[in-house]
Amino acid sequence: MGKLDWIKEELEELKKKGLYVTIRVLQSAQGPWIVVNGKRVLNMCSNNYLGLAAHPKIKEAAIRAILDYGVGAGAVRTIAGTMELHVELEEKLAKFKKREAAILFQSGYNANLGAISALLKKGEDGVFLSEELNHASIIDGMRLSGAPKVIYKHLDMEDLKKKLEENKDKKKKIIVTDGVFSMDGDLAPLPEIVELAEQYDAIVYVDDAHGEGVLGDHGRGIVDHFKLHDRVDFEMGTLSKAFGVIGGYVAGPEEAIEYLKQRARPFLFSSAMNPPDVAAAIAAVEILQKSDDLVKKLWDNTHYLQKGLRDLGYDLGNTKHPITPVMLYDEKLAQEFSRRLFEEYNIFAQAIVYPTVPLGTARIRLEPSAAHSKEDLKLVIDAFEDLGKKTGFLK
Ligand code: PMP
Repeated sequence: MGKLDWIKEELEELKKKGLYVTIRVLQSAQGPWIVVNGKRVLNMCSNNYLGLAAHPKIKEAAIRAILDYGVGAGAVRTIAGTMELHVELEEKLAKFKKREAAILFQSGYNANLGAISALLKKGEDGVFLSEELNHASIIDGMRLSGAPKVIYKHLDMEDLKKKLEENKDKKKKIIVTDGVFSMDGDLAPLPEIVELAEQYDAIVYVDDAHGEGVLGDHGRGIVDHFKLHDRVDFEMGTLSKAFGVIGGYVAGPEEAIEYLKQRARPFLFSSAMNPPDVAAAIAAVEILQKSDDLVKKLWDNTHYLQKGLRDLGYDLGNTKHPITPVMLYDEKLAQEFSRRLFEEYNIFAQAIVYPTVPLGTARIRLEPSAAHSKEDLKLVIDAFEDLGKKTGFLK
C-alpha cells in the first residue's frame, strides 16, 4: 500500500456516488457564446451577469494597469504597502454602495472568511445566527472563528426570532445571511431581518455576491433594493460575478472596516489583488455608476427567458433574480438534460443535484446575462420545449 493510495480510493468513491466533477475546458473568453472542447456553445451557466468579463473598456483598464503597475502586488498590504489603485477601488466601492468605507480581499470567499472570523471569536460572549442555506464561504468563516453558531431555517423569520430570543442575553449577536440564494434565486427577507436585529440589538452581515450589479438602483445590490443602507451593518460583495473580474470586499462603517484591516486573516496573511484586476474592477464600477443600461438589459432578458419557460409549464421555484432554476426534480433526468443540451442543442447549462441541493430537487440552473440576445434566449426556450417533450417531462 502506498501512502497516497487512499486518494485513488476516495476519487473512485466520488465517481461511484456520482459526485465526481468533470471540469470543461474553455478555449475562449467568457461571454454569451464560448468555445468548449472545440465546440461553440451558448453559455448559460456563468455569473458574468452584465457581460463585463470581456468588456473592451475593462480590458483596456487592465492592460493600462499592467503597463503602469506590473502584474503583482508584491506581498500583503500591511507589509509591502498598498498601491494607490487598491485605495481607489475601496473608495469607489464604498461610494457605489453608499457606505462609509470598504476593505478589499482577493476573492469573495476570502472576504467572508476574513470578515466573519474577525467579527466574533471563540470564547467571546456571542453567537452567529446563520441562515440555513448560506454559502460555503460563510460557513467556513464561522468555522475559522470557532465561535458558536445557531442555524435558522431558510427565510423563516419566526425561527430567527425564536433563536434571537433564546440568545438575547449574549453580548454579540451576528445575523449572517446570503442576500440572494444562489441555487434558487430567492431573496433574504432583509427588511424583516433588520427589524428583528434592531429589536434584539444584533449585527447584520449580508453576502451580496449575487445582488451586486443585479439588484437595486444601478445594480447597487440587495441593501439598496430594499433601501436599508443605514440599517445593515456589513455588506460583503464579490468582484467576480457581475463585475466580471476577481476579488471581494466588505463595506460598512469606517471604524469597523479599519478593524477588519487590522484583524481579518486573509487581508493580513495573503497577498493583495493584482493591479490589473483592481484596475479592471475600478472600470467596472465606473461603468455601473454612469449607466444602468446593462442592468436593465439583464432584467429584460431575465423576464423574457423566465416567461418563456413558465409558459411551457416549467416550475422555476421562487426566483426573484436572473438565477433560473428549471426544476426537474429527478437527479438522473437533470444530468441527462445537461448532457443533451450540450450535445444536441449546443447549450452549456449545469445540472445542480444532491448534495448541492436536497434529494428530489435536481434542476438545471440557467443564468441569462445582459450580453445574451433575445435570439440566444429563444434557442434556450425552444431547446427546453423540444427536450421536455422528447424526455416525456412536458406533457
Ligand atoms: N458568496 C456567494 C453567495 C457566492 O455565490 C460566492 C461564489 N460562488 C461567493 C460568496 C464567493 O465569491 P468568489 O467566487 O468571489 O470567491
